[in-house]
Amino acid sequence: MSEIVKIFDTTLRDGEQSPGASMTIEEKLKIARNLEKLNVDIIEAGFPIASEGDFEAVKLIAQEIKGCEIAGLARANEADIERAYEAIKYSDMPRIHTFIATSPIHMEYKLRMKPENVIERAVHAVRYATKFTSNVEFSAEDATRSELDFLVKIFSAVIKAGAKVINVPDTVGYTVPEEYSKIISYLFEHVDGIENVTVSVHCHNDLGLAVANSIAAVKAGARQIETTINGIGERAGNAAMEEIVMIFKTRNDVYPFDTNINTEYIYPTSRLVSQITGFPVQPNKAIVGKNAFMHESGIHQDGVLKAKETYEIMKPETIGIKSDSIVLGKHSGRHAFKNKLYTLGYELNDEDFEKAFKAFKRIADKKKEVYDEDIDAIIAEYIYRIPEKYELKYININCGTFAKPSATILMRVGNEEVLKASFGDGPVDAAFKTIKEITGIDCKLVEYSVKSITGGTDALGEVTTRIEYKGKQVTGQGADTDIIVASAKAFVNALNKLAYRLENWVK
Ligand SMILES: [Zn+2]
Repeated sequence: MSEIVKIFDTTLRDGEQSPGASMTIEEKLKIARNLEKLNVDIIEAGFPIASEGDFEAVKLIAQEIKGCEIAGLARANEADIERAYEAIKYSDMPRIHTFIATSPIHMEYKLRMKPENVIERAVHAVRYATKFTSNVEFSAEDATRSELDFLVKIFSAVIKAGAKVINVPDTVGYTVPEEYSKIISYLFEHVDGIENVTVSVHCHNDLGLAVANSIAAVKAGARQIETTINGIGERAGNAAMEEIVMIFKTRNDVYPFDTNINTEYIYPTSRLVSQITGFPVQPNKAIVGKNAFMHESGIHQDGVLKAKETYEIMKPETIGIKSDSIVLGKHSGRHAFKNKLYTLGYELNDEDFEKAFKAFKRIADKKKEVYDEDIDAIIAEYIYRIPEKYELKYININCGTFAKPSATILMRVGNEEVLKASFGDGPVDAAFKTIKEITGIDCKLVEYSVKSITGGTDALGEVTTRIEYKGKQVTGQGADTDIIVASAKAFVNALNKLAYRLENWVK
Protein backbone atom coordinates (compact mmCIF):
# COMPACT_ATOMS: atom_id res chain seq x y z
CA MET A 1 0.00 0.00 0.00
CA SER A 2 1.49 3.34 -1.05
CA GLU A 3 1.40 6.20 1.39
CA ILE A 4 -0.57 9.25 0.26
CA VAL A 5 1.19 12.55 -0.38
CA LYS A 6 -1.20 15.49 -0.35
CA ILE A 7 -1.25 17.88 -3.28
CA PHE A 8 -1.63 21.53 -2.32
CA ASP A 9 -2.21 23.38 -5.56
CA THR A 10 -1.18 27.02 -5.73
CA THR A 11 -1.81 27.73 -9.42
CA LEU A 12 -4.31 30.38 -8.37
CA ARG A 13 -1.94 32.09 -5.92
CA ASP A 14 1.74 31.52 -6.73
CA GLY A 15 0.93 30.64 -10.35
CA GLU A 16 -1.05 33.81 -10.75
CA GLN A 17 1.99 35.76 -9.58
CA SER A 18 3.81 34.94 -12.85
CA PRO A 19 4.25 38.20 -14.73
CA GLY A 20 1.25 38.63 -17.05
CA ALA A 21 -0.73 35.69 -15.67
CA SER A 22 -3.24 37.58 -13.59
CA MET A 23 -6.72 36.13 -14.01
CA THR A 24 -10.24 37.38 -13.65
CA ILE A 25 -12.57 35.99 -11.01
CA GLU A 26 -14.47 33.92 -13.58
CA GLU A 27 -11.23 32.51 -14.96
CA LYS A 28 -10.06 31.54 -11.47
CA LEU A 29 -13.33 29.77 -10.77
CA LYS A 30 -13.02 27.81 -14.01
CA ILE A 31 -9.55 26.61 -13.03
CA ALA A 32 -10.76 25.83 -9.50
CA ARG A 33 -13.52 23.63 -10.92
CA ASN A 34 -10.91 21.66 -12.83
CA LEU A 35 -8.70 21.38 -9.75
CA GLU A 36 -11.71 19.92 -7.96
CA LYS A 37 -12.14 17.34 -10.73
CA LEU A 38 -8.44 16.55 -10.43
CA ASN A 39 -9.20 15.99 -6.75
CA VAL A 40 -6.34 18.06 -5.36
CA ASP A 41 -6.39 18.01 -1.56
CA ILE A 42 -6.02 21.75 -1.05
CA ILE A 43 -6.60 24.68 -3.40
CA GLU A 44 -4.73 27.83 -2.44
CA ALA A 45 -7.21 30.24 -3.96
CA GLY A 46 -5.37 33.52 -3.43
CA PHE A 47 -4.04 36.16 -1.08
CA PRO A 48 -7.25 37.85 0.13
CA ILE A 49 -5.74 41.03 1.57
CA ALA A 50 -3.74 41.74 -1.60
CA SER A 51 -6.69 43.27 -3.46
CA GLU A 52 -10.46 43.46 -3.63
CA GLY A 53 -10.37 41.17 -6.66
CA ASP A 54 -8.25 38.58 -4.89
CA PHE A 55 -10.62 38.62 -1.94
CA GLU A 56 -13.71 38.17 -4.11
CA ALA A 57 -12.09 35.32 -6.05
CA VAL A 58 -11.15 33.41 -2.90
CA LYS A 59 -14.62 33.96 -1.46
CA LEU A 60 -16.35 32.75 -4.62
CA ILE A 61 -14.15 29.65 -4.81
CA ALA A 62 -14.81 28.91 -1.12
CA GLN A 63 -18.56 29.17 -1.84
CA GLU A 64 -18.54 27.07 -4.99
CA ILE A 65 -15.92 24.36 -4.50
CA LYS A 66 -16.87 21.75 -1.97
CA GLY A 67 -14.54 18.83 -2.72
CA CYS A 68 -11.23 20.36 -1.58
CA GLU A 69 -9.84 22.34 1.31
CA ILE A 70 -9.65 26.03 0.40
CA ALA A 71 -6.60 27.93 1.62
CA GLY A 72 -6.10 31.68 1.80
CA LEU A 73 -2.66 33.22 2.24
CA ALA A 74 -1.94 35.72 5.02
CA ARG A 75 1.19 37.41 6.29
CA ALA A 76 1.81 36.91 10.00
CA ASN A 77 -0.44 39.71 11.25
CA GLU A 78 -4.01 39.97 12.51
CA ALA A 79 -5.40 42.07 9.66
CA ASP A 80 -4.17 39.61 7.01
CA ILE A 81 -5.48 36.62 8.94
CA GLU A 82 -8.90 38.18 9.51
CA ARG A 83 -9.19 39.10 5.84
CA ALA A 84 -8.14 35.60 4.77
CA TYR A 85 -10.72 34.01 7.02
CA GLU A 86 -13.45 36.40 5.85
CA ALA A 87 -12.92 34.96 2.36
CA ILE A 88 -12.40 31.25 3.11
CA LYS A 89 -15.05 30.89 5.81
CA TYR A 90 -17.60 29.83 3.18
CA SER A 91 -15.66 26.63 2.62
CA ASP A 92 -16.50 23.48 4.60
CA MET A 93 -12.75 22.94 4.94
CA PRO A 94 -11.05 26.35 5.24
CA ARG A 95 -7.30 26.63 5.79
CA ILE A 96 -5.39 29.71 6.87
CA HIS A 97 -1.87 29.73 5.44
CA THR A 98 0.30 32.24 7.25
CA PHE A 99 3.97 32.95 6.66
CA ILE A 100 6.97 34.96 7.70
CA ALA A 101 10.53 35.02 6.41
CA THR A 102 13.17 33.23 8.47
CA SER A 103 16.46 33.64 6.59
CA PRO A 104 18.99 36.14 7.97
CA ILE A 105 18.91 38.18 4.76
CA HIS A 106 15.09 38.43 4.72
CA MET A 107 14.80 39.14 8.44
CA GLU A 108 17.45 41.87 8.33
CA TYR A 109 16.61 43.64 5.07
CA LYS A 110 12.97 42.89 4.35
CA LEU A 111 11.38 42.56 7.75
CA ARG A 112 13.96 44.64 9.69
CA MET A 113 13.20 42.42 12.67
CA LYS A 114 15.30 40.55 15.20
CA PRO A 115 15.04 36.73 15.02
CA GLU A 116 13.37 36.48 18.44
CA ASN A 117 10.71 38.97 17.34
CA VAL A 118 10.11 36.94 14.19
CA ILE A 119 9.37 33.88 16.33
CA GLU A 120 7.07 35.94 18.55
CA ARG A 121 5.19 37.29 15.54
CA ALA A 122 4.84 33.80 14.02
CA VAL A 123 3.54 32.28 17.24
CA HIS A 124 1.07 35.10 17.71
CA ALA A 125 -0.16 34.78 14.11
CA VAL A 126 -0.65 31.02 14.36
CA ARG A 127 -2.41 31.30 17.71
CA TYR A 128 -4.63 34.07 16.32
CA ALA A 129 -5.46 31.98 13.24
CA THR A 130 -6.52 29.02 15.37
CA LYS A 131 -9.29 31.21 16.79
CA PHE A 132 -10.94 30.93 13.37
CA THR A 133 -10.02 27.40 12.31
CA SER A 134 -7.89 24.57 13.60
CA ASN A 135 -6.61 24.07 10.06
CA VAL A 136 -3.57 26.35 10.10
CA GLU A 137 -0.48 26.08 7.93
CA PHE A 138 2.69 27.98 8.73
CA SER A 139 5.43 28.70 6.18
CA ALA A 140 8.97 29.78 6.98
CA GLU A 141 9.67 31.84 3.90
CA ASP A 142 13.15 31.31 2.41
CA ALA A 143 13.58 28.29 4.70
CA THR A 144 16.38 26.79 2.62
CA ARG A 145 18.58 29.81 3.27
CA SER A 146 17.66 29.96 6.96
CA GLU A 147 19.78 28.67 9.84
CA LEU A 148 18.71 25.14 10.69
CA ASP A 149 18.55 25.72 14.42
CA PHE A 150 16.44 28.79 13.91
CA LEU A 151 14.03 26.73 11.79
CA VAL A 152 13.87 24.14 14.56
CA LYS A 153 13.03 26.88 17.10
CA ILE A 154 10.35 28.56 15.04
CA PHE A 155 8.68 25.34 13.85
CA SER A 156 8.64 23.89 17.39
CA ALA A 157 7.06 27.12 18.61
CA VAL A 158 4.33 27.33 15.95
CA ILE A 159 3.42 23.66 16.39
CA LYS A 160 2.96 24.36 20.09
CA ALA A 161 0.80 27.35 19.10
CA GLY A 162 -1.46 25.10 17.02
CA ALA A 163 -0.09 24.85 13.47
CA LYS A 164 -1.17 21.59 11.79
CA VAL A 165 1.02 21.90 8.70
CA ILE A 166 4.55 23.29 8.58
CA ASN A 167 5.87 24.29 5.21
CA VAL A 168 9.59 24.46 4.34
CA PRO A 169 9.71 26.53 1.15
CA ASP A 170 12.65 26.80 -1.18
CA THR A 171 11.40 30.28 -1.99
CA VAL A 172 14.27 31.27 -4.28
CA GLY A 173 14.85 27.89 -5.94
CA TYR A 174 18.31 27.57 -4.41
CA THR A 175 18.48 24.14 -2.82
CA VAL A 176 19.45 20.80 -4.39
CA PRO A 177 17.95 17.37 -3.64
CA GLU A 178 20.64 16.04 -1.25
CA GLU A 179 20.73 19.24 0.75
CA TYR A 180 16.93 19.60 0.90
CA SER A 181 16.57 16.02 1.99
CA LYS A 182 19.06 16.70 4.83
CA ILE A 183 17.14 19.80 5.92
CA ILE A 184 13.87 17.84 6.12
CA SER A 185 15.52 14.96 7.99
CA TYR A 186 17.13 17.39 10.43
CA LEU A 187 13.75 18.97 11.13
CA PHE A 188 12.22 15.54 11.75
CA GLU A 189 14.97 14.79 14.26
CA HIS A 190 14.83 18.08 16.14
CA VAL A 191 11.46 19.84 15.90
CA ASP A 192 9.18 19.26 18.91
CA GLY A 193 5.85 17.76 17.99
CA ILE A 194 6.72 17.29 14.30
CA GLU A 195 5.28 13.76 14.41
CA ASN A 196 1.82 15.26 14.93
CA VAL A 197 1.82 17.62 11.93
CA THR A 198 2.16 17.38 8.17
CA VAL A 199 5.45 18.57 6.72
CA SER A 200 4.99 20.41 3.45
CA VAL A 201 7.39 21.51 0.73
CA HIS A 202 7.15 24.35 -1.75
CA CYS A 203 9.87 24.45 -4.37
CA HIS A 204 10.77 26.95 -7.06
CA ASN A 205 12.37 26.01 -10.32
CA ASP A 206 15.15 28.58 -10.69
CA LEU A 207 17.71 25.79 -11.19
CA GLY A 208 15.25 23.38 -12.79
CA LEU A 209 15.13 21.28 -9.61
CA ALA A 210 11.67 22.04 -8.19
CA VAL A 211 10.27 18.59 -8.91
CA ALA A 212 13.45 16.69 -7.96
CA ASN A 213 13.70 18.63 -4.69
CA SER A 214 10.04 17.97 -3.84
CA ILE A 215 10.46 14.24 -4.42
CA ALA A 216 13.65 14.15 -2.32
CA ALA A 217 11.75 15.85 0.51
CA VAL A 218 8.99 13.25 0.35
CA LYS A 219 11.60 10.51 0.72
CA ALA A 220 12.78 12.33 3.83
CA GLY A 221 9.28 12.45 5.32
CA ALA A 222 7.34 15.35 3.79
CA ARG A 223 3.70 14.46 3.02
CA GLN A 224 2.40 17.55 1.28
CA ILE A 225 3.76 19.07 -1.91
CA GLU A 226 2.83 22.52 -3.13
CA THR A 227 2.50 22.55 -6.89
CA THR A 228 1.10 24.41 -9.87
CA ILE A 229 -0.33 23.22 -13.16
CA ASN A 230 2.30 23.38 -15.93
CA GLY A 231 4.75 24.58 -13.26
CA ILE A 232 3.74 28.22 -13.66
CA GLY A 233 4.66 30.65 -10.88
CA GLU A 234 7.02 33.37 -9.74
CA ARG A 235 10.12 33.67 -11.97
CA ALA A 236 11.01 30.17 -13.26
CA GLY A 237 7.88 28.76 -11.67
CA ASN A 238 6.93 26.11 -9.13
CA ALA A 239 7.05 22.31 -9.05
CA ALA A 240 4.76 21.04 -11.82
CA MET A 241 1.90 18.98 -10.42
CA GLU A 242 1.62 16.71 -13.44
CA GLU A 243 5.26 15.68 -13.17
CA ILE A 244 5.11 14.87 -9.45
CA VAL A 245 1.92 12.86 -9.81
CA MET A 246 3.22 10.85 -12.76
CA ILE A 247 6.61 10.18 -11.13
CA PHE A 248 4.87 8.46 -8.21
CA LYS A 249 2.60 6.59 -10.58
CA THR A 250 5.26 5.48 -13.03
CA ARG A 251 8.09 4.75 -10.57
CA ASN A 252 6.10 3.43 -7.66
CA ASP A 253 8.77 0.73 -7.33
CA VAL A 254 11.28 3.38 -6.23
CA TYR A 255 8.87 5.85 -4.60
CA PRO A 256 6.12 3.93 -2.82
CA PHE A 257 3.84 6.96 -2.67
CA ASP A 258 0.61 7.95 -4.29
CA THR A 259 -1.58 11.04 -4.58
CA ASN A 260 -5.37 11.44 -4.66
CA ILE A 261 -5.20 12.96 -8.13
CA ASN A 262 -7.59 11.80 -10.88
CA THR A 263 -4.88 11.73 -13.53
CA GLU A 264 -7.29 11.78 -16.49
CA TYR A 265 -7.96 15.46 -15.78
CA ILE A 266 -4.28 16.40 -16.03
CA TYR A 267 -4.20 17.15 -19.72
CA PRO A 268 -7.50 19.07 -19.93
CA THR A 269 -6.49 21.17 -16.92
CA SER A 270 -3.06 21.86 -18.38
CA ARG A 271 -4.69 23.18 -21.53
CA LEU A 272 -7.21 25.25 -19.63
CA VAL A 273 -4.48 26.94 -17.60
CA SER A 274 -2.45 27.58 -20.74
CA GLN A 275 -5.44 29.11 -22.51
CA ILE A 276 -6.47 31.31 -19.62
CA THR A 277 -2.98 32.60 -18.81
CA GLY A 278 -1.86 32.81 -22.43
CA PHE A 279 1.30 30.87 -21.52
CA PRO A 280 1.87 28.18 -24.11
CA VAL A 281 3.19 24.84 -22.86
CA GLN A 282 6.60 24.16 -24.41
CA PRO A 283 6.28 21.26 -26.90
CA ASN A 284 8.90 19.14 -25.10
CA LYS A 285 7.47 19.75 -21.62
CA ALA A 286 7.34 16.53 -19.59
CA ILE A 287 3.90 14.88 -19.40
CA VAL A 288 1.78 17.62 -21.01
CA GLY A 289 3.92 18.94 -23.89
CA LYS A 290 2.52 18.48 -27.38
CA ASN A 291 5.41 16.15 -28.24
CA ALA A 292 5.49 14.22 -24.96
CA PHE A 293 3.85 11.20 -26.56
CA MET A 294 4.97 11.64 -30.17
CA HIS A 295 7.39 9.28 -31.75
CA GLU A 296 9.21 10.85 -34.62
CA SER A 297 12.12 8.57 -35.47
CA GLY A 298 11.31 5.66 -37.73
CA ILE A 299 12.86 3.13 -35.38
CA HIS A 300 10.80 4.42 -32.47
CA GLN A 301 7.58 4.47 -34.51
CA ASP A 302 8.18 0.93 -35.66
CA GLY A 303 8.76 -0.19 -32.07
CA VAL A 304 5.67 1.55 -30.73
CA LEU A 305 3.51 0.01 -33.44
CA LYS A 306 4.73 -3.46 -32.50
CA ALA A 307 4.45 -2.94 -28.75
CA LYS A 308 3.74 0.44 -27.14
CA GLU A 309 5.95 -0.30 -24.15
CA THR A 310 9.08 -0.32 -26.33
CA TYR A 311 9.31 3.47 -26.08
CA GLU A 312 6.36 4.51 -23.93
CA ILE A 313 6.70 4.52 -20.15
CA MET A 314 3.24 6.05 -19.62
CA LYS A 315 -0.01 5.76 -21.48
CA PRO A 316 -1.37 9.02 -22.91
CA GLU A 317 -4.89 7.96 -21.84
CA THR A 318 -3.77 8.00 -18.20
CA ILE A 319 -3.39 11.77 -18.24
CA GLY A 320 -6.54 12.31 -20.28
CA ILE A 321 -5.25 12.39 -23.84
CA LYS A 322 -8.01 10.47 -25.53
CA SER A 323 -6.98 8.92 -28.81
CA ASP A 324 -9.55 9.95 -31.33
CA SER A 325 -8.59 10.42 -34.91
CA ILE A 326 -11.94 11.87 -35.95
CA VAL A 327 -11.53 15.21 -37.66
CA LEU A 328 -14.64 17.35 -37.76
CA GLY A 329 -15.81 19.23 -40.84
CA LYS A 330 -18.64 21.16 -42.42
CA HIS A 331 -21.09 18.30 -42.12
CA SER A 332 -20.45 17.44 -38.51
CA GLY A 333 -23.51 17.99 -36.39
CA ARG A 334 -24.25 18.73 -32.76
CA HIS A 335 -23.73 15.16 -31.67
CA ALA A 336 -20.29 14.78 -33.25
CA PHE A 337 -19.26 18.14 -31.86
CA LYS A 338 -20.43 17.21 -28.38
CA ASN A 339 -18.49 13.94 -28.56
CA LYS A 340 -15.41 15.76 -29.67
CA LEU A 341 -15.67 18.22 -26.79
CA TYR A 342 -15.97 15.28 -24.44
CA THR A 343 -12.84 13.58 -25.75
CA LEU A 344 -10.99 16.88 -25.41
CA GLY A 345 -12.07 17.14 -21.79
CA TYR A 346 -14.50 20.05 -22.09
CA GLU A 347 -17.77 19.89 -20.20
CA LEU A 348 -19.93 22.85 -21.17
CA ASN A 349 -23.35 23.90 -19.96
CA ASP A 350 -26.11 24.18 -22.61
CA GLU A 351 -25.70 27.88 -23.18
CA ASP A 352 -21.92 27.66 -23.65
CA PHE A 353 -22.34 24.61 -25.85
CA GLU A 354 -24.64 26.51 -28.23
CA LYS A 355 -22.17 29.40 -28.38
CA ALA A 356 -19.28 27.06 -29.13
CA PHE A 357 -21.29 25.12 -31.69
CA LYS A 358 -22.19 28.28 -33.59
CA ALA A 359 -18.54 29.35 -33.67
CA PHE A 360 -17.57 25.87 -34.85
CA LYS A 361 -20.06 26.04 -37.71
CA ARG A 362 -18.69 29.40 -38.84
CA ILE A 363 -15.15 28.04 -38.91
CA ALA A 364 -16.19 24.78 -40.56
CA ASP A 365 -17.68 26.85 -43.38
CA LYS A 366 -14.31 28.48 -44.02
CA LYS A 367 -12.09 25.42 -43.55
CA LYS A 368 -12.42 21.89 -44.84
CA GLU A 369 -11.23 20.21 -41.69
CA VAL A 370 -11.54 21.41 -38.13
CA TYR A 371 -8.77 19.98 -35.94
CA ASP A 372 -8.65 19.55 -32.18
CA GLU A 373 -6.42 22.61 -31.88
CA ASP A 374 -9.03 24.65 -33.76
CA ILE A 375 -11.61 23.55 -31.21
CA ASP A 376 -9.31 24.58 -28.37
CA ALA A 377 -9.08 27.99 -30.01
CA ILE A 378 -12.87 28.22 -30.28
CA ILE A 379 -13.27 27.37 -26.61
CA ALA A 380 -10.59 29.85 -25.60
CA GLU A 381 -12.14 32.58 -27.68
CA TYR A 382 -15.86 32.11 -27.13
CA ILE A 383 -16.21 30.42 -23.77
CA TYR A 384 -13.31 31.51 -21.58
CA ARG A 385 -13.98 35.13 -22.16
CA ILE A 386 -14.80 37.93 -19.79
CA PRO A 387 -17.57 40.53 -20.27
CA GLU A 388 -16.38 42.64 -23.16
CA LYS A 389 -16.29 46.40 -23.18
CA TYR A 390 -14.79 46.47 -26.68
CA GLU A 391 -15.88 44.48 -29.67
CA LEU A 392 -14.29 44.38 -33.09
CA LYS A 393 -17.11 44.83 -35.59
CA TYR A 394 -15.31 45.40 -38.86
CA ILE A 395 -11.72 45.63 -40.02
CA ASN A 396 -10.33 46.51 -43.42
CA ILE A 397 -6.62 46.56 -44.14
CA ASN A 398 -4.88 48.07 -47.13
CA CYS A 399 -1.35 47.02 -47.78
CA GLY A 400 0.92 45.90 -50.58
CA THR A 401 4.21 46.67 -52.28
CA PHE A 402 3.39 50.31 -53.09
CA ALA A 403 0.71 51.17 -50.55
CA LYS A 404 1.36 52.71 -47.15
CA PRO A 405 -0.41 50.24 -44.87
CA SER A 406 -3.65 51.55 -43.42
CA ALA A 407 -6.44 50.12 -41.31
CA THR A 408 -10.09 51.08 -41.10
CA ILE A 409 -11.79 49.68 -38.04
CA LEU A 410 -15.28 49.79 -36.63
CA MET A 411 -15.58 48.91 -32.95
CA ARG A 412 -18.20 48.85 -30.29
CA VAL A 413 -17.05 50.70 -27.19
CA GLY A 414 -19.60 50.16 -24.45
CA ASN A 415 -22.87 50.99 -26.20
CA GLU A 416 -21.38 53.18 -28.90
CA GLU A 417 -19.92 52.35 -32.27
CA VAL A 418 -16.74 54.12 -33.31
CA LEU A 419 -15.13 54.13 -36.74
CA LYS A 420 -11.54 55.27 -37.32
CA ALA A 421 -8.68 54.81 -39.77
CA SER A 422 -4.92 55.30 -39.53
CA PHE A 423 -1.63 54.47 -41.21
CA GLY A 424 1.11 52.28 -39.77
CA ASP A 425 4.53 50.79 -40.50
CA GLY A 426 2.88 47.51 -41.40
CA PRO A 427 -0.65 46.12 -41.45
CA VAL A 428 -0.55 44.91 -37.83
CA ASP A 429 0.92 48.20 -36.67
CA ALA A 430 -1.82 50.10 -38.54
CA ALA A 431 -4.50 47.94 -36.92
CA PHE A 432 -3.07 48.35 -33.41
CA LYS A 433 -2.70 52.12 -33.85
CA THR A 434 -6.32 52.42 -34.93
CA ILE A 435 -7.56 50.31 -32.02
CA LYS A 436 -5.53 52.42 -29.58
CA GLU A 437 -7.09 55.56 -31.02
CA ILE A 438 -10.59 54.16 -30.75
CA THR A 439 -10.20 52.94 -27.16
CA GLY A 440 -8.04 55.85 -26.00
CA ILE A 441 -5.79 53.40 -24.12
CA ASP A 442 -2.17 54.23 -24.82
CA CYS A 443 -0.64 50.94 -23.79
CA LYS A 444 2.72 49.44 -24.64
CA LEU A 445 2.87 46.21 -26.61
CA VAL A 446 5.48 44.09 -24.82
CA GLU A 447 5.02 40.80 -26.61
CA TYR A 448 3.49 39.67 -29.87
CA SER A 449 3.61 36.13 -31.18
CA VAL A 450 1.89 34.26 -33.99
CA LYS A 451 1.45 30.53 -34.15
CA SER A 452 -0.20 28.45 -36.79
CA ILE A 453 -2.31 25.99 -34.87
CA THR A 454 -2.98 23.55 -37.63
CA GLY A 455 -1.17 22.81 -40.86
CA GLY A 456 -1.84 24.22 -44.35
CA THR A 457 -2.51 27.72 -45.67
CA ASP A 458 -6.09 27.59 -44.41
CA ALA A 459 -4.81 27.03 -40.88
CA LEU A 460 -6.17 29.04 -38.00
CA GLY A 461 -3.54 31.50 -36.86
CA GLU A 462 -3.41 32.13 -33.16
CA VAL A 463 -1.96 35.37 -31.94
CA THR A 464 -0.92 36.18 -28.39
CA THR A 465 -0.32 39.77 -27.34
CA ARG A 466 0.90 41.06 -24.04
CA ILE A 467 0.34 44.70 -23.22
CA GLU A 468 1.45 46.93 -20.38
CA TYR A 469 -0.49 49.86 -18.99
CA LYS A 470 0.29 51.73 -15.77
CA GLY A 471 2.43 48.85 -14.52
CA LYS A 472 -0.21 46.18 -15.21
CA GLN A 473 0.42 43.47 -17.78
CA VAL A 474 -2.27 41.43 -19.45
CA THR A 475 -2.25 38.95 -22.28
CA GLY A 476 -4.84 38.50 -25.00
CA GLN A 477 -5.46 35.80 -27.58
CA GLY A 478 -7.20 35.79 -30.89
CA ALA A 479 -7.65 33.16 -33.57
CA ASP A 480 -8.69 33.54 -37.18
CA THR A 481 -7.84 32.20 -40.61
CA ASP A 482 -6.53 35.71 -41.32
CA ILE A 483 -3.44 36.63 -39.28
CA ILE A 484 -4.17 40.36 -39.24
CA VAL A 485 -7.70 39.77 -38.02
CA ALA A 486 -6.36 37.34 -35.39
CA SER A 487 -3.87 40.03 -34.30
CA ALA A 488 -6.60 42.65 -33.95
CA LYS A 489 -8.76 40.19 -32.00
CA ALA A 490 -5.87 39.36 -29.67
CA PHE A 491 -5.18 43.03 -29.07
CA VAL A 492 -8.86 43.77 -28.36
CA ASN A 493 -9.01 40.74 -26.04
CA ALA A 494 -6.05 42.09 -24.05
CA LEU A 495 -7.70 45.53 -23.86
CA ASN A 496 -10.91 43.93 -22.63
CA LYS A 497 -9.05 42.15 -19.86
CA LEU A 498 -7.26 45.36 -18.99
CA ALA A 499 -10.51 47.33 -18.87
CA TYR A 500 -12.09 44.64 -16.73
CA ARG A 501 -9.18 44.70 -14.35
CA LEU A 502 -9.06 48.46 -14.13
CA GLU A 503 -12.71 48.45 -13.14
CA ASN A 504 -12.76 45.43 -10.86
CA TRP A 505 -9.31 44.98 -9.46
CA VAL A 506 -8.73 48.24 -7.66
CA LYS A 507 -5.83 47.62 -5.33
ZN1 LIG B 1 6.32 30.38 -4.11
